[in-house]
Amino acid sequence: MKAHDGMYIGGEWRSAAGRDVIDVVNPVDEQVIGHVPAGTAEDVDAAVRAARAAFPGWAATPPAERGARLAALRDVLVARKDEIAETVTAELGSPPQFSQNVHAAVPIAVAGSYADLVTTYAFEEKHGNSTVYLEPVGVVGAITPWNYPLHQIVAKVAPALAAGCTVVLKPAEDTPLVAQLFAEAVHEAGVPAGVFNLVTGLGPVAGQALAEHPDVDLVSFTGSTAVGRRIGATAGGAVKRVALELGGKSANVILPSADLAKAVNVGVANVMSNSGQTCSAWTRMLVHRDQYEEAVELAATAAAKYGSRIGPVVNAKQQARVLGYIEKGVAEGAGLVAGGPESPGEQGYFVSPTVLADVTPEMTVAQEEIFGPVLCVLRYDDEEDALRIANGTVYGLAGAVWAGDEAEAVAFARRMDTGQVDINGGRFNPLAPFGGYKQSGVGRELGTHGLAEYLQTKSLQF
Ligand code: NAD
Repeated sequence: MKAHDGMYIGGEWRSAAGRDVIDVVNPVDEQVIGHVPAGTAEDVDAAVRAARAAFPGWAATPPAERGARLAALRDVLVARKDEIAETVTAELGSPPQFSQNVHAAVPIAVAGSYADLVTTYAFEEKHGNSTVYLEPVGVVGAITPWNYPLHQIVAKVAPALAAGCTVVLKPAEDTPLVAQLFAEAVHEAGVPAGVFNLVTGLGPVAGQALAEHPDVDLVSFTGSTAVGRRIGATAGGAVKRVALELGGKSANVILPSADLAKAVNVGVANVMSNSGQTCSAWTRMLVHRDQYEEAVELAATAAAKYGSRIGPVVNAKQQARVLGYIEKGVAEGAGLVAGGPESPGEQGYFVSPTVLADVTPEMTVAQEEIFGPVLCVLRYDDEEDALRIANGTVYGLAGAVWAGDEAEAVAFARRMDTGQVDINGGRFNPLAPFGGYKQSGVGRELGTHGLAEYLQTKSLQF
């Protein structure tokens, strides 16, 4: 798609306040594919004003009509799904099939889920002599990362609009083109002017201005823990609502009764998909000591098969960071059984699918989020040891448990300090709440729990 040189504010594309632009780079060949304006505090202020002006009307719009707009938005996304996939492939480097099946398909499913949910959701409750109204929080400032660029936008904007909130979006600087495409889709869907607004720009400039804006009622952020911590502190200082979806270091626990080959192969695929740039990826594989050697062999074979099919990581900085972690793992005593710290090609931000064996729980690679195609395989002695290792990081976003018997896996999962666990390879469900325990975040996205984030209660007593 052709990049817009303005901001989508108040239902139209307006000139940016400043003249600076951001280059959009294709991570496969390092070529600049477009430019978007680098927004300033002035652009953010104009967008927040538009969102504030539109709020009373949208909040008073019946849920069925809000649902109709969301259904129209889903239909536009369906009609433009090839363009969405091509755009994500161009700016993120994601393989075309993955862009179709995940980057385009998941946002369509999530937009559709809110089109349906809003028509049946109980925005009014009775408790004894009280009637409780669930009312929209107000103007939402949404700040999103690049790794699932459209999904993360839709996971915020769709529930916010369903709730009756209005939104200002600041998307990631690496992937602004699909955000512009989304703004076009919102427009085509007939969402009233000012209900959704887009300001492209740098995090410390436009993002920070949005997070600090006094007329934003709720900040919903997805990204790194470092930035999330700052945004949480800013929101706390202003006593405003905040939702944070942050990092992860999730465990894939393979109990001795599991189908080892299946658990390892699905586990490797989970880590390598999207080039390892998935916050909920199971980047630590935990295997019983008696099955350890076999599991490492299976994982190395599975990872080697991926080659460069997984696509690059998003930019040069991320590539250097990931390769640095691989070096650090080896320096701290991990064994390299697939991939390695050398860039596999001359061009593009590629990282070889990598498996580190003999990783111990205190190593840096077992504690910190790498955000690349790197799997750590750890050994445990017994179930208590596995639980201690699984829970032994500051994060708690996701995880997986494999066992011969589902009940055995469920019993283990219930003891994990984490927000989501897939049992024996359970499938992604766009209606299940997504979000973290511990430093993985505050709040939940998707489904009814995701909608509740954008609502506040008012109780009337009779
Ligand atoms: P990041 O925190 O650098 O950037 C995320 C967004 O915040 C971008 O839009 C960026 O422009 C903006 N930003 C940066 N500095 C800011 C500031 N000072 N004030 C306001 N906004 C600012 O993260 P990233 O590198 O884009 O994304 C990778 C990280 O995101 C990983 O750590 C990953 O785990 C995390 N992530 C978490 C989830 C989740 O749901 N938990 C999902 C995706 C990514």
